[in-house]
Amino acid sequence: KGLQKHFPIHSGAFRKVVGHVRAVDGIDLTVYPGETLGIVGESGCGKSTTGRTILRLLEPTGGEVLFNGQDLAKLKKEEMRQVRKDIQMVFQDPYASLNPRKTIKQILLESLEVHNIGTKQERMQIIEEIIQVVGLQKEHLNRHPHNFSGGQRQRIGIARALVLKPKLIIADEPVSALDVSIQSQILNLLKDLKRDFNLTLIFISHDLSVVKHICDRVAVMYLGRVVEIADKRTLFENPSHPYTKALLSAVPQANPKAKRERIILTGDLPSPANPPSGCTFHPRCQHATEECKKVAPQLQDIGGGQLVSCHLYKELFSSQH
Ligand code: SF4
Ligand code: MG
Repeated sequence: KGLQKHFPIHSGAFRKVVGHVRAVDGIDLTVYPGETLGIVGESGCGKSTTGRTILRLLEPTGGEVLFNGQDLAKLKKEEMRQVRKDIQMVFQDPYASLNPRKTIKQILLESLEVHNIGTKQERMQIIEEIIQVVGLQKEHLNRHPHNFSGGQRQRIGIARALVLKPKLIIADEPVSALDVSIQSQILNLLKDLKRDFNLTLIFISHDLSVVKHICDRVAVMYLGRVVEIADKRTLFENPSHPYTKALLSAVPQANPKAKRERIILTGDLPSPANPPSGCTFHPRCQHATEECKKVAPQLQDIGGGQLVSCHLYKELFSSQH
C-alpha cells in the first residue's frame, strides 16, 4: 500500500543529497494466495526495486507491506528474518547468487541451518528431495555451481528458494538470462512447483510473452507507478492504458487475424529522478491533453478486476468496454 522507494542522489565531496530517484513511487498491489502476479515494464520502471523492497533487501522509503496481517516495513531485523522463511526470492542470474566455493549441498543446507530447521539427518533428507523436485539428481549435490549449465543453475536457485517451504516466491527475471529453449522448461517447472507446493508467485519480467505463459494477473509499471492491473486475458485482449497498448503492440501475435496496430513509443524513458508532471507518461502518449500534463491520474477500478490509471480511458477505449 503506497509503497515507495526513493534513492538519494549525492553530489560533491560532502556527498550532499541533491535529489532523489523515485524508483518506486507509491504503488498499491494485491497478491492473492495461490496466484501468479506478473509485474512488467521496461528496465528502470521500478519492478525489481518493488520486489526487493517487499522483502526488505532494500528498505522502503514509505508505505506498507502487509503480509499475513503484519506490516513487514515495520518489523525489526530479527522479526524480518523469521518472515524470510515464508518469502523467498529467485534471481535473474543464479550464478551470481550462488557461492562458487561451495557445493550445492552446502548452499542448500545453509538456509536450513540459518533457520534452525530439522536435525542433520532431516536436513539431508529435505535437500535430497528438493534437488530431485527441481529436476536434478542427488549426485549433483556434491558439485560446485560452475559444473552446471545456466538452466541447471536456475534449478538450483529455485531449489534454494524452496527448501524453506515458503508461501510466496518473488522471481525477478528468472529466465531472462537463459536461452529461449531453456526458458520454457524453467517456466513449466515454476508452474508445476506452484501447484504442488501451494505457492504464490510474484513474477517480475520485462518480457510480455514470458508473462503470458505463466501469470494469472499482470500489473504494468511505468516510472515507479502501476498504470494498469488486470487478469491476463483482459490485459492481453483489452489493454486499457496507452502504455500497455504500446507494450503489447510490440509482441508478435500468434493469431494473424487479430491485427494490432503497431504503436511506436516516441522519446526516451524519462528519468525517475526528474519525472514529468501530471501523468508521467504524457511526453510519450499520443493522446495527451493539457489536463494530462498537469494532473496525475489515479488508478481506478473500471470493472472486471481491471484497474487503470489514465484520464481518458473511457473516451479512448469505449468501443472495447
Ligand atoms: Fe495518455 Fe493522458 Fe492517459 Fe496519461 S492520462 S496515458 S497522457 S491519455
Ligand atoms: Mg530488473
